[in-house]
Amino acid sequence: MKTKKETETLAVCPVCGKKEKKFLFENTDRLHGIPGEFGLNQCMSCSAFYLSPRPTLKALPHYYPDDYVAYQINEQACVQSEAMRRSRNFLRNTILYEVYRYKDFGNEPRIRPSLIARPIAYLLFPLWKRSYYSLPKINFPKYVSRGKALDIGCGSGYYIWILRNLGWEVYGVEPSENAANKGREKFGLDIRTGTLFDHKFPDNYFHFITMTHVLEHIHNPVETMKEVKRILHPDGELIIRTPNMGSLGYKRFGKNWGPLETPRHLILYSYKSLSALSDLAGLQIRKLITVHEKVRLYWSLEYEEKAAKGTGDFGIKERYTLIQNLKANLIDAHESVLIGIGRNAGEELQAVLAKKGNLH
Ligand SMILES: [Zn+2]
Repeated sequence: MKTKKETETLAVCPVCGKKEKKFLFENTDRLHGIPGEFGLNQCMSCSAFYLSPRPTLKALPHYYPDDYVAYQINEQACVQSEAMRRSRNFLRNTILYEVYRYKDFGNEPRIRPSLIARPIAYLLFPLWKRSYYSLPKINFPKYVSRGKALDIGCGSGYYIWILRNLGWEVYGVEPSENAANKGREKFGLDIRTGTLFDHKFPDNYFHFITMTHVLEHIHNPVETMKEVKRILHPDGELIIRTPNMGSLGYKRFGKNWGPLETPRHLILYSYKSLSALSDLAGLQIRKLITVHEKVRLYWSLEYEEKAAKGTGDFGIKERYTLIQNLKANLIDAHESVLIGIGRNAGEELQAVLAKKGNLH
């Protein structure tokens, strides 16, 4: 059931608690056109960007339509014939065991013995990425014996379904009851609804935790990250993926930049503010890269054109003209060059974090 729209104004930065801020601009819901005006501010201390006024926690469901993009599960990827599945798994098991040292696959059907299997596995180089379902490398965890993984904001659980196939004991947390139900019914996954705080996982429990496109939706990031730190194993890794306010895209498009996703993105980060948040929570960034995401540029171009026309249209159409394609490709290429020379200019931040003091 949708709740009533309600907003709250923040007196201090929701990350570092400092007062001084710079008001940037008012923005509206460009994707779904739900009425309301929200201000974007930048903290002068930690440099986090935050909405104020913003939707209250209680009113937030009002701003998430049931067809919200994150809730869709990739069902196509899970359908295949039995014979196909077996031969694919035979090769997959061999590569996972021989190349990535996923020991759990030792007892599964695979090429044996290792003396023969290992050279074959290395020759199958083009299939390496497919052996871990073509996950972005950062999302493919190193092997941990009886490893436990948690995906916070898991949607229907497609990602933890993959991790389960890779031998991980998997859990998901998801605020949408609909999305969680799909994953539970279709894949028998352990997906808990509500927030992380509702489930009280044990201390030091998870070897691998992921938060993909989650942090920007969270009202209370410091509290949440402290909870993540509590349940993260001392040798565990936390992977965060979130829009990058230091990106070329934001600099180029400003208010029309697609990933602002007002009002569902409450707080947005750059490298500086993500570091400040990690520090406050007792975590540290072990590795950070930025990645380009051309699709975000298309959204931004579309928002920019609609704003110029002043029609107040919302939504994205996903079909583009030659000029739009050319523009998006040019900005994307520029972004790739900047990333190539070591600038954090990509559309998204991808960070690997660990508990403080643990650097191995
Ligand atoms: Zn701050």
